[in-house]
Amino acid sequence: MAVGDSVIREQLLFRRERLQAAMPAAPTQARLAQLLEEVDTALTRLDDGMFGLCATCHDPIEPDRLAADPLVQYCLDHLTPDQRRALQMDLDLASHIQRGFLPERGVNTAGWEVHYHYEPAHAVSGDYCDVLRAGPDGLFFLVGDVSGKGVSASILMAQLHAIFRSLTSDHLPVDELVARANRIFCESTLAAYYATLVCGRVDRSGRLELCNAGHCPPLLVRGSEVTKIEATGLPVGLFCGGYYSAKSLQLSAGDMLFLYTDGLSEARNHADSEYGEDRLAELLRARPGLSPHEVTSECLKDLAKHLGAAPKTDDLTIMALRHSGKA
Ligand SMILES: [Zn+2]
Repeated sequence: MAVGDSVIREQLLFRRERLQAAMPAAPTQARLAQLLEEVDTALTRLDDGMFGLCATCHDPIEPDRLAADPLVQYCLDHLTPDQRRALQMDLDLASHIQRGFLPERGVNTAGWEVHYHYEPAHAVSGDYCDVLRAGPDGLFFLVGDVSGKGVSASILMAQLHAIFRSLTSDHLPVDELVARANRIFCESTLAAYYATLVCGRVDRSGRLELCNAGHCPPLLVRGSEVTKIEATGLPVGLFCGGYYSAKSLQLSAGDMLFLYTDGLSEARNHADSEYGEDRLAELLRARPGLSPHEVTSECLKDLAKHLGAAPKTDDLTIMALRHSGKA
């Protein structure tokens, strides 16, 4: 998502000021002088209407790279071999750090079995996926999708992860949890960024509380009956004063909740046809009684069949939770 020129100019002028203030005290000024030159080049390019265009091919530079570093001057195709190596190392490290944010696998506790599949389209993902204990008798679960792609989206995903990890310790109802996360996320990110997400809590007795902030509707599977749980609120990050509500449902042993990101529902094959929510609901309806792990792999197989030779182009997350009814 592009950030307005005036915001960029403001950021660049701020950097310029800070560099100039730091220079007199710096032991070696060469690197600072070089950065100052890069900032001035970026300001000139902004004045000339060339900002954001590759200095070699004049095509637009990838927006997420520009958002992360307004001083970049070359598109990915025109980096020097050294720059390319450095970028690859950064991406490998970012990918490694992001994998460290993922929740434990094979959670089976508080009367619930959970399985998830998390697959970035590239090195890092803008999808958000978490499972956390909610006291001794419950679990929180979250699946979300940050606007944009690539590195900038993955940074915001890390931010959401930190916000929810700190808020879930307070035992708030899920609608209040999402409202607070929304305020913090709103105040700390650029206006152009937002995230859709589902935040839920389940407990040992089968009680489900769910808040859906503009995300793809989770599916509730009871035997061969599948129902969509539609959104109850706006995506987080759009309005600081956003209001959220939650739905409460009582689930029985064997009932399953299925969550996903649009990397599943909007996956397109070469005929430009979407996988779609209806096909997903039909798949779940036709295969009752599967475990969360089995249902996830059936879904991935069906997605692969739909895609054929077409590649996955978006980050993909799937999470399935089944109430085991066991104490
Ligand atoms: Zn280029």
